[in-house]
Amino acid sequence: MLNNPNYKGIMINKIGKCLSDIQVAEFVDGCLSDNSSIIEHLNTCADCFEQVTDVMNFIEEYADECTELNDSYNNMITEDSDRPQMKGIN
Ligand SMILES: [Zn+2]
Repeated sequence: MLNNPNYKGIMINKIGKCLSDIQVAEFVDGCLSDNSSIIEHLNTCADCFEQVTDVMNFIEEYADECTELNDSYNNMITEDSDRPQMKGIN
């Protein structure tokens, strides 16, 4: 669900604004009727990405989604070795 055809494994300009804590919680809870703009932002912002995956990491039922996010995150940072690796998610 997070495959972005414009994303080629390099850091690109962020799309949209960074997420608030409430937005992160709502996204993880799955209570947003339209999260496409958030996903679009997450595909371009490692900071928000890590926030979301950190939260998901504590929610077992989101294990599959978390794996998907983590894979996408790893792709995101492939060309940016200065960024810290995701911690605590396997
Ligand atoms: Zn952000």
